[in-house]
Amino acid sequence: MLLITCPETGTDELVPDRRIRSVVNHPTHIALHVACPCGAVHVYRTGRRWEAARRAAATRPAPRLAPA
Ligand SMILES: [Zn+2]
Repeated sequence: MLLITCPETGTDELVPDRRIRSVVNHPTHIALHVACPCGAVHVYRTGRRWEAARRAAATRPAPRLAPA
């Protein structure tokens, strides 16, 4: 199970592992593509280096995926 915060509804959602559509391993972090109960697929990034980079770049907006 995975606890996510939906960026669309702002609610915490507990989603099963099978809802994870893909896991992409990056040098600085791991990107999880999760099919949210709201119907959208959200990307969540995990990893200590990602968290550190995000803190260092706190003044910059987080990267967003452009709609297809
Ligand atoms: Zn959602």
